[in-house]
Amino acid sequence: MIQEYLSEVEANIQAACQKAGRNRDEVTLIAVSKTQSNRVIQEAYDAGLRVFGENKVQELVQKYNCLPKDIAWHMIGHLQTNKVKSIVDKAVLIHSVDSLRLAEVIERECAKHGIIANVLLEVNVAEEKSKFGFAEKEVKDAVKEIAKFQHISIQGLMTIAPFVDNAETNRPIFSKLRKLLVDINREKIDNVTMRILSMGMTNDYRVAIEEGATMVRIGTGVFGARYYGTEVFDKN
Ligand SMILES: *Cc1c(COP(=O)(O)O)cnc(C)c1O
Repeated sequence: MIQEYLSEVEANIQAACQKAGRNRDEVTLIAVSKTQSNRVIQEAYDAGLRVFGENKVQELVQKYNCLPKDIAWHMIGHLQTNKVKSIVDKAVLIHSVDSLRLAEVIERECAKHGIIANVLLEVNVAEEKSKFGFAEKEVKDAVKEIAKFQHISIQGLMTIAPFVDNAETNRPIFSKLRKLLVDINREKIDNVTMRILSMGMTNDYRVAIEEGATMVRIGTGVFGARYYGTEVFDKN
């Protein structure tokens, strides 16, 4: 089942890359495995996937402990400061740095472990009240501040676009995020060079790739519909 979904997603990614004149290897597929059981994730692993995204710390840690060690886990959901210490040594990339306070806590925890956290700054491009993230106009100053931290490496920007019927509606949002990244890179803030644009989900990843996404976060497209009942998220 996953194999079929995956083939379709892969074909779409390739088509979008081709349309935009980009190489397929410029885009990383992050399989968003939130709410999926370890058994289902293992199935995706057996189909060849190695990069998974989770939005809850507890779930990421549990899966990290149970599943193969060569999986790259990405933290894509809002991160509470009191949970930072549980994941700084487990997530290869935190997509959701949405406040200076959170960055401070990540810095402190990484200093303790003697490690460097790779992060993206989350930008609320669409200015939705329900969403986390820096406002567009705050991002440059946030990069300046966070770039001072010794144990954080700013790798790029992330956004969660609104849920829309027509993916084209989100095109200006993706293009804004890309422009913002280019503008900030031009300033050469403490030699920060951001290379990652994490944007695009099941409904709109093709458009996001056309607008420059280097990481797409796809859940439903890879695993099918999510079921939020507790029994699915088993402990095996
Ligand atoms: C759940 C989630 C996704 C994936 O959503 P789909 O629509 O299932 O592809 C992507 N990004 C974030 C931050 C998520 O929480």
